[in-house]
Amino acid sequence: MGKKCAVCNEGEGKYRCPRCRITYCSVPCYKEHKGSAACDAAYERLVLEKESQAAKESAAVLKDFESEENADENEEGYRILPDQLDRMVESKELQELLRGPRLREVIELVDAAEDREATLDRAVENNKEFSDFVQLLVETINPEGAPI
Ligand SMILES: [Zn+2]
Ligand SMILES: [Zn+2]
Repeated sequence: MGKKCAVCNEGEGKYRCPRCRITYCSVPCYKEHKGSAACDAAYERLVLEKESQAAKESAAVLKDFESEENADENEEGYRILPDQLDRMVESKELQELLRGPRLREVIELVDAAEDREATLDRAVENNKEFSDFVQLLVETINPEGAPI
């Protein structure tokens, strides 16, 4: 069974709003939805979701980075605490950096690599943008400078 139309709640949600991705059933419903406050609200939710997804991706990158540094002390590696993740999502500086296409490229590269730690090390060494990002990431989630 498919989704219901988010506008009239009756028809089948066969189509998607290109802006906010809600589903709708027909042209009249889309006309009603287009430019509405509901579309704005759904679009904002979508943006927030994307940003927290980006933060989670960078958390995964950082996890690899830290787990290598702490390998001797902690076999399980590093875990991002929920409030640290919140801080990452809230950091405008980080979000700004993450919007850069080159940085996303590096993160995706590391994420897809077989040897993520080695790829990450190379990325930090060879890419100033990325090493700045990792630095900022560490500062953001760990503002007191206490050892993680
Ligand atoms: Zn409808
Ligand atoms: Zn919409």
